Amino acid sequence: MMERTQRMARPQRTAIREVRQDVNVRPFLVIWEATRACQLVCQHCRADSQSEAHPLQLSTEEGKRLLDDIASFGAPSPMVVISGGDPFERTDLTELIAHGKQVGLSMALAPSVTAKATRAAFAAAADAGVKAVSISLDGASPATHDGFRGIDGVYDATLPVCHDIVDLGMRLQINTTVTAGNVHELPGILRQVISLRSFLWSVFLLVPTGRGDALAALPPDEVEDVLHWLVDVSHHLAVKTTEAPHFRRVVLQRRAAGDADPVTTFGLGDTYKRLRAALDEVLADNDLPTRTPRPPLDINAGRGFVFIDHIGGVYPSGFLPIPGGSLRERSLPEIYREAPLFRQLRDASQLGGRCGVCEFRSICGGSRSRAYGVTGDPLAEEPFCSYQPSGGPVLDAEGMPA
Ligand code: SF4
Repeated sequence: MMERTQRMARPQRTAIREVRQDVNVRPFLVIWEATRACQLVCQHCRADSQSEAHPLQLSTEEGKRLLDDIASFGAPSPMVVISGGDPFERTDLTELIAHGKQVGLSMALAPSVTAKATRAAFAAAADAGVKAVSISLDGASPATHDGFRGIDGVYDATLPVCHDIVDLGMRLQINTTVTAGNVHELPGILRQVISLRSFLWSVFLLVPTGRGDALAALPPDEVEDVLHWLVDVSHHLAVKTTEAPHFRRVVLQRRAAGDADPVTTFGLGDTYKRLRAALDEVLADNDLPTRTPRPPLDINAGRGFVFIDHIGGVYPSGFLPIPGGSLRERSLPEIYREAPLFRQLRDASQLGGRCGVCEFRSICGGSRSRAYGVTGDPLAEEPFCSYQPSGGPVLDAEGMPA
């Protein structure tokens, strides 16, 4: 495979999108868990959300200072997602969004679908400056989705909320957590993503942390099947992965393999075959043109990405619970640029196991959160990747020797 990759002519467009900014200096994406309060009790919740806000949650003024801090990274400014818990639990939400917009930030929202997710609340968020909203859909049926969320009726409430978001002119992203329990429903969820006019489907591979610890994760071979299937989907719909950087490796491998049958070329299993057959049915029922895939973005925990928790802790990822520092003690740029863990995570030569010798380590590097969740070492090899490194040279975003 690598010989083939290296023989190929340099393609016109990179299969992997490298961010324009120096990720050692500024992140591409900041997620702020503005509160842990949430009325849902989702099984996979990283935050282990609570019905009431923590008394030490960042205040309105501290939240504004955080947004000022993010803006101080300079242009191009990081994108900001206000998450939770449920951000609609904050009564100062629109004030915070408006402040972010005022200081030049691109603002997005990741709310829960509860009684607070009204059309009026979304309209106020849009008026304040929100451009995009992500909504979770973890099943193609009420039984699966509501089973995840721990409350009946959420599935039925989610669909009109999605319509409201699109009607109000905001971009809708659908987030789906994949586990062994819902992998067979992915084609059904895809049908919903299409019918809801979502601009992006974000597929998240479970990290065993928070309440997600109790869910059954997919074994590595099935992860591989799902990632290859997502490459197929990406030729018809914009998809991204969360906590699955090895999707970038699969994208490069598929690009190098050209029209070769992925089942025989990569030894894919029954999960891929079933998903592929179901995708053909979805495509037959929907008028989805073939499109140039959206290149996956080359960011990872602490490398282009940073997470702020509800009390001001700064983390490489929301699923990697080792803080780099606190906003109550140091500025965000200082922590992002200088915290030892963040610096280690940006240095692929410090990775261990297969990731440490993998030719894809510069553009993948594995999920650092999952490595930590499974082994206790954030630099250990990604435990849910089945790839065996070839021993070849490190490859760049075009699959060429770096
Ligand atoms: S071994 Fe590690 S670096 Fe290589 S593809 Fe798998 S997760 Fe990525």
